Amino acid sequence: MVSDQTCVLWIRKDFRFNDNQALIEASKFKEMIPTFVWDDHDLKPWSTGGASKWWLHHTLNQFKKALKDRGSDLLILKGSPEEQITKLCRQSNASAVLFNHSHNPFELKVEQKLRKHLDSQNIATHSFHGSLLCPTDSLLKADGSPYLVYTPFWRNFLKKYKPQSIQGPLKLPSLPAKITSLCVGIESLALLPPLKWHENFHHYWSVGEEAAEKKVKEFIKKGLESYNSDRDLPSQDGTSRLSPHLHFGEIHPQRILSMVESKFGALETIKDPNIIQFCKEVLWREFSYHLLHHFPKTPSQPLRDAFKKFPWKKNQKLFKAWSKGLTGYPIVDAGMRQLWETGWMHNRVRMITASFLVKHLGIPWQDGAKWFWDTLVDADLASNTQGWQWTSGCGADAAPFFRIFNPITQGEKFDPQGQYASQWCPELSKLPPKWIYRPWEAPKHILKQAGVTLGDNYPLPIVDHKEAREKALWNYDWIKEPKGIGT
Ligand code: FAD
Repeated sequence: MVSDQTCVLWIRKDFRFNDNQALIEASKFKEMIPTFVWDDHDLKPWSTGGASKWWLHHTLNQFKKALKDRGSDLLILKGSPEEQITKLCRQSNASAVLFNHSHNPFELKVEQKLRKHLDSQNIATHSFHGSLLCPTDSLLKADGSPYLVYTPFWRNFLKKYKPQSIQGPLKLPSLPAKITSLCVGIESLALLPPLKWHENFHHYWSVGEEAAEKKVKEFIKKGLESYNSDRDLPSQDGTSRLSPHLHFGEIHPQRILSMVESKFGALETIKDPNIIQFCKEVLWREFSYHLLHHFPKTPSQPLRDAFKKFPWKKNQKLFKAWSKGLTGYPIVDAGMRQLWETGWMHNRVRMITASFLVKHLGIPWQDGAKWFWDTLVDADLASNTQGWQWTSGCGADAAPFFRIFNPITQGEKFDPQGQYASQWCPELSKLPPKWIYRPWEAPKHILKQAGVTLGDNYPLPIVDHKEAREKALWNYDWIKEPKGIGT
């Protein structure tokens, strides 16, 4: 696509230069107007959560600066994309709008509305494959139906795809002269939550494409070869922490896999289980998007019909204790506090905290998913939905109903020295590892020496593990063989 005309490049969640097909094509125009439109209204009930807004604020600033460094800029508009982009095209005489597809059904609707509107105004639209390795309809079972089990999905991917990363342009076309009247500043989007809860996030995160690529390089160098043994240990830096970068499209998964391949050879020839496992995790994200695409109601409804009648019970008091990290179960509390402080939680602990909410407390998974949505910097409709449905047993390739994570032994197994519990629940840090995950069983003198007063500076368990487990098993019993996938 080469043109002596002007185009608008509609930036969505693709804040990168490499592997950004829309940007690469738009940069062949004589003039290009990179534009971000802030309109959260159409995404309801999945409007951008608080922690994600923090990330968005910073990635917008970074990307604007990176565009300026390449001779361009980022225009920020506020309002519905169809209205704002049409006005911008008129004002700048742009003849085309280019963008990458979103794979989120709510964002897809916005895209369809815009395309229809621009068609009626005789403005061309060109859309490109977005931030997935394989288009959502491209990996199907032999009978044409979507995969509901992960392993065959992964095998089919290996057969069909060869990740190839494309370098982005170093220099970009200039902006037309008269385009400023519609623009607003990033600050005026008021993305930073009024509550100061996010103020420590910057200690944990560097936002933007450069930071994402640096992270991949370091992870390949230092973390990848011990991924299998370390990825389940929440006190270790054993995973890549790439999830928010992937969510905001600061890096494309094909870049990650190509970087892995350039060091270790073609994916299908790699034998090291650490490397294979990491690539498989990256593909879980794709699997989640495939599920979301084929079952778009799953953010609010269970994939398995039988679960529609499951006797979940809302309970404000228990929910609050869970969300604040005050359940009396240290692994759950540590995870929920890590989430609040950093905007991220270790995967093993996401499974444990989610399981605790749905199985021990019997609270609907949708309530937990909403809390994660608001507090995770990597909140992602596909992966969050899949993670919660998997844990609750009502999704694809889900945890079996009888698998109820024991919050005591999970803590002891994956954090045997109690480092993770001590870091996030410092009031327990003087307890010996033997008692840290079961403080209510510790002898009185040990508690006293460690300065722990249960019910005072650390809560007593809000439910009894054994009783909660039995109740959950009883509730799940009638659903033993869930039939029917109806959403
Ligand atoms: P790594 O282990 O380094 O994995 C590399 C990448 O693979 C990740 O960045 C992620 O993109 C992908 N990945 C890894 N595990 C999964 C998985 N189980 N499902 C889908 N993709 C995966 N992930 C999100 O990105 N956003 C969410 O909102 C989200 N919500 C979750 C909710 C629950 C209840 C559970 C159990 C899991 C959720 N996950 C979510 C999946 C997973 O916990 C995170 O992707 C992972 O912890 C991110 O850390 P990392 O980048 O260090 O992962």
